[in-house]
Amino acid sequence: MDFKEASLRERKIYYHEEWKEKDVPDFIVERITEREFAFDHDGNGYNDRYKGFENVDLFSDFLIKNFPYAVCTSVSYYSKPKNREDWKGAELVFDIDAKDLTVKSCDCKEGHVCEKCLSEAKEIVLKIRDAMIGDLGIKRLVLVYSGRGYHLRVVDKEVLPLERRSEILEYVTGSKRPKDLFLSHGYPAVYRKMFVMTFNKMNEKDLPFSKNIVDTLLAEKESIISKLNTYHADFLDIKGIGDKTKNEFLGHIERINASLVDGKVTVDVKRILRLPSTLHSKVSMKCVEIKNIENFDPLKQAVPKFVFERKD
Ligand SMILES: [Zn+2]
Repeated sequence: MDFKEASLRERKIYYHEEWKEKDVPDFIVERITEREFAFDHDGNGYNDRYKGFENVDLFSDFLIKNFPYAVCTSVSYYSKPKNREDWKGAELVFDIDAKDLTVKSCDCKEGHVCEKCLSEAKEIVLKIRDAMIGDLGIKRLVLVYSGRGYHLRVVDKEVLPLERRSEILEYVTGSKRPKDLFLSHGYPAVYRKMFVMTFNKMNEKDLPFSKNIVDTLLAEKESIISKLNTYHADFLDIKGIGDKTKNEFLGHIERINASLVDGKVTVDVKRILRLPSTLHSKVSMKCVEIKNIENFDPLKQAVPKFVFERKD
């Protein structure tokens, strides 16, 4: 897969031959009149904003007529979406973009994605999903392949009115040190899982310490992880690693974990988010709602047909 940009002709083929109205997810159709829609018609940004549709048929007509470069909807609901007036709540969303992951085990250049980092993004979204369901009691959430990563969208009624969202973000990414690291359940367990996931992927380039310290941390990686997993408070008691370094090391991983999710998207309820079923033209992939994440493979389920018909 070379993730090449889609041409105007390919966009037209996609919306005329492949896109189906029934692929617009239920959670969008249900309250379609309360969403703001935004369109990027030529790849230069979402210049066509504050649009509303009375029903999904009218939206469908618009797509088939315009085959836009990109389509988003608001995560918020409004009585008058065209004016963004009378806010009715917003989905709680987490945006994990494979291209923005600071620690990844592939050789992707900045701003690029490959099969490997896409699968690392999937691992992150699954961990967040587990914490949302298991710890926070979320019942209705939707997973979406965004075209270059994953969106997790919570549509529980209780969550929609939430105004302060940054604590939830800290919780599910394990980016704040818990008071007691070794409680078996709750936040400390999330913190430990996220720590292990990130540390596991790290190599020399990801650790901003002196060579001796980096070598020691990497040599002891397995032992650190296994001690942490088995509740050993001395998991970082290693010769050559002082308290200051320990603290900096934990802080470093916490900052990386905080960056796994684009926090601005979670916190800002005015955001717009790519609409599942539409085309991510920059990389020629479909944004799709995922029904079965365990078996989901973006290179099989999110590649539009026109990509296979390309001659070059
Ligand atoms: Zn990659």
